[in-house]
Amino acid sequence: MEYAVLAFFCGLSAAVIGKLKGSSFVLWFMVGLVLPVLGTLAAVFYRSERNEPRRQCPECGNVVALYDQVCMRCGRDLEWPEAVPG
Ligand SMILES: [Zn+2]
Repeated sequence: MEYAVLAFFCGLSAAVIGKLKGSSFVLWFMVGLVLPVLGTLAAVFYRSERNEPRRQCPECGNVVALYDQVCMRCGRDLEWPEAVPG
């Protein structure tokens, strides 16, 4: 029972940290639940996806990685970006 409580709070802390970093709350809750302490540490050291340069597809508005050359949603060829935003 104590382990379950510990796992729950580890999951919760990992979820909160993951959420703060712009990732999925539920995903990190699962990670923290399955891997207590380790999951929380993983969330702490997880590199935020918000730091990745991104841009929008001019065709469908899908957000893709800056260096993707094809939109994953509509298949439009994306031109090489002239300027890196932000
Ligand atoms: Zn698109």
